[in-house]
Amino acid sequence: MNMDLNIKNTDLKRIVIIGGGFAGIELAKKLKNKKFQVILIDKNNYHTFQPLLYQVATFGLEAESIAYPLRRLFHNASNILFRMAEVLKIIPQSNEVETSIGNIKYDYLVIASGSTNNFFSFDSISSSLMPMKSVVDALNLRSFILQNFEKALLTNKISEQEELINIAIVGAGPTGVELAGALGEMKNSVLPYDYAELDLTKMQIHLFEASSKILSSMSDKSSDKAKKYLNELGVKVWLDTKVVEYKNNILTTDKGIKISASNLIWTAGVKGKIIPGIEDKSIQGNRYKVGMDSRVEGYQNIFAIGDVSAMITDKFPKGFPMLATVAIEQGLNLAENFLNLQKGKDWIMFDYNDKGSMATVGRNRAVVDLTFISFQGTFAWFLWMLVHIMSLIGFRNKLIAFFGWVYNYFTYDRAIRLIITPFKRD
Ligand SMILES: Cc1cc2nc3c(=O)[nH]c(=O)nc-3n(C[C@H](O)[C@H](O)[C@H](O)COP(=O)(O)OP(=O)(O)OC[C@H]3O[C@@H](n4cnc5c(N)ncnc54)[C@H](O)[C@@H]3O)c2cc1C
Repeated sequence: MNMDLNIKNTDLKRIVIIGGGFAGIELAKKLKNKKFQVILIDKNNYHTFQPLLYQVATFGLEAESIAYPLRRLFHNASNILFRMAEVLKIIPQSNEVETSIGNIKYDYLVIASGSTNNFFSFDSISSSLMPMKSVVDALNLRSFILQNFEKALLTNKISEQEELINIAIVGAGPTGVELAGALGEMKNSVLPYDYAELDLTKMQIHLFEASSKILSSMSDKSSDKAKKYLNELGVKVWLDTKVVEYKNNILTTDKGIKISASNLIWTAGVKGKIIPGIEDKSIQGNRYKVGMDSRVEGYQNIFAIGDVSAMITDKFPKGFPMLATVAIEQGLNLAENFLNLQKGKDWIMFDYNDKGSMATVGRNRAVVDLTFISFQGTFAWFLWMLVHIMSLIGFRNKLIAFFGWVYNYFTYDRAIRLIITPFKRD
């Protein structure tokens, strides 16, 4: 193997991991100081805790408290090297990847590149939509909403004001629901103080869902309760309603309803982040087809884990849901198998241990479905907070999130209403 990207060759087998998301870091953490040379590549120098992005967008948490530097995570691991680069292509014929900073060889390749927004038929106007998939997206959304409020103060035309402050969210999965809940709270308890000159009773928050229920992967009880919570917060939930057009800040639904809103947030879909180079027959629905051993079909030394992998089972014919919990478990399983490989032990096939799901809809309101019980309300909300604080990486981040939430809880405030980098939409 040649010396590439200033990485020294060793006698150890080299595992190249593309992506420092939930799957990639879990795998790398388990391989810390083991007899492999691990090269972790990510286009960012930090890991993003995506489940709390909406808190950054809605002034609840600072971006730094949900992101964690990848170098810091591995500074005590002599066998793990990090390179900040974008992987552009996989070249299986020569066991190497082409990146934005040069090529790098591998013995084993693990693709953990996650997912990206899926705008479906809205692709051509995606630059007018506000997605929420990265820290940058969340910061842009925060700035954009506040900029529009500032603009609304400059006109005395009521229709213009309303257009600027109205918010529409497309997609009522956990992200859309949690975001709508947080925005509803802001409308009621934060924005009226900052923008006392505006009549915020006119502000509308709409949540559109094409199917007949919000939080479609959760129980009917949790879905109904979440909808009730949203109504209490003043969010208008539209079920069985597709947004079909968005032009000049006017949104049109398949039922012919028109709503004027400058802020259109897209949480309606994601697709696997495929990297060119793998044969089409090994790809299904924008994800790599993998066996229960995480091997990409047709390749011996290429694996895919997390959102980008489609591990087909009878229960999940399109692959497991794109969830952090699945990604973490797949990362752990693959790490164990790499270690087993070294010891000459058998490969352990992946088995998903679904512990349930939860979503919060503003202060004191959350819904929780565990495998054996489903509950909603204040206790669910405390559990949601506890689980998310414990899942954040790094003691500092846990502490900042904890104190931030305690402060918000007692003051009814959301302190981080800053437009640091103004956002310009097309
Ligand atoms: C707003 C939001 C809320 C969510 N809420 C929840 C929740 O409450 N519970 C839950 O279980 N799941 C939730 N999810 C889903 C969860 O975040 C994902 O399932 C999880 O992040 C998948 O992990 P991953 O490792 O596959 O990918 P990711 O965590 O997305 O990581 C992929 C990494 O790969 C890097 N990358 C991608 N392409 C390249 C490239 N070409 N070169 C170099 N680097 C690359 C990216 O920079 C990124 O760091 C949420 C997702 C979003 C967007």
